[in-house]
Order: sequence, then structure tokens, then C-alpha cells
Amino acid sequence: MSEANTTCGVCGTPGRPAFKAPQPELAPDMDMRPGEPARSTLVDWVQTCPRCGAAAPDLSALPSTARAVVESDEYRGLTTKGVEETLPFRRWALICERTGDRPQQAEALLQAAWAADDAAAMTEAAQLRTEVAALWAGAQDIELAVRRLDVLRRAGLFNEAAAWAADLAKQDLEETAHAIVAYQQARIAVRDIGRHLISAALPPPSHAPHVSHRKRAQTGFWSRLLRK
Ligand SMILES: [Zn+2]
Repeated sequence: MSEANTTCGVCGTPGRPAFKAPQPELAPDMDMRPGEPARSTLVDWVQTCPRCGAAAPDLSALPSTARAVVESDEYRGLTTKGVEETLPFRRWALICERTGDRPQQAEALLQAAWAADDAAAMTEAAQLRTEVAALWAGAQDIELAVRRLDVLRRAGLFNEAAAWAADLAKQDLEETAHAIVAYQQARIAVRDIGRHLISAALPPPSHAPHVSHRKRAQTGFWSRLLRK
């Protein structure tokens, strides 16, 4: 591999290459937050340029159009809008929004919610999840639709979550997706906003004797199962 350009795309300040999280070994959460050891590296996923304040997983990949966003009052105002732990992700989300990358904006806001979880900023975490759920409204992709169900529940939007689950349950879902929706419906019924692992919704490993439980629970299994 050739030496990557690591200068900030907005101001040209030298930085470090994009962080590469280790492969998760444990099951992901139902919103696809990866398991450990990737999980606890969240704080490293988005870099902030020490000079101009731009934020991105890879500062060198920022388009020149990001400059106007980074210099805007709204971007500068983000520092007072939430806890410090979520700031890099909220900054990255605003850059994504203003440069037209709505899917990445939603992922950045969900990562901000995870950072808020880790900082025990529960109100902010719920607000961020509400924003993610709005961006994912009407999602047709089944994996995204099922992740949205978890986002709604963990935002405490139980009525919306119950309605969304009922819509999903009417579809001809693959077995794993069906099991996850049923699990979520049970959690919604008891007004649970807690974190749950995808593996909790799946049949016990005895149903698949040749595949270890841990292997089945790795990130990516969900996409593979759903797209068969
Ligand atoms: Zn910069």
C-alpha cells in the first residue's frame, strides 16, 4: 500500500490516517453497534482537525465543499449543543448533511447516540436516536428497517416502535429478521429502552450444531442471512 495522504481536506493540516477498528469478536447490539473489541474504540472513529475543527473518519477525504460547513455558525454552535463526547460525531453528521450524504449522516448520528450512551447522557442519546429514526423513516431495506425498530425503542418512542414493528411483522420476513422483530415487540411491550444483543433474539446454537454460536453472532452475519 502506498503512503496515504493524511492532510485535512479543509485546511491542509497534517493528520493521522483513518482509524481501523479491530474486528469484533462478540455479538453486535440490535442497532449493529459492533461487539468488543471494536465497540470500545468508538472514541477513535471520528478525527477532529486541531486547526479548523473539521471532523470525519478520514479528514483527508473531506471535499472542499466541507469548508463552508465547518466555518458556519451552526457548525461552531454544535460545541454548546450536547456533551463533548458526542461532538465529533455531531460535527461529522452536519458535514454529511450539508454535503448531501444522508445515509452517512444517519450513521454518524447513531454513533453520536452510542457515545452519549457511554457518557451516560441519556436524554441526548434519546434525542439523537429520534433524529436517526426520522432519517430512516420509510426504510425499505430490511436490515435498516429492523435497526430503525431498535432505534425507536431505545429513543423511548414506544407507540411509533410498536406501529413500525407491526408493519414489519406483516412482511414476509426471513427467519432471523422475524425473530428479531418478535424479540423487539416483547421489549416494547414492557417499555424497555435498554441495550440488547442480536444474539439474544436468535435460536440457541443447538439448532445449528455445526456452527459455533460465536461465529454466527459476528457482525456481518445479519446482512448475509438477510440477503440470501
Ligand atoms: Zn483542518
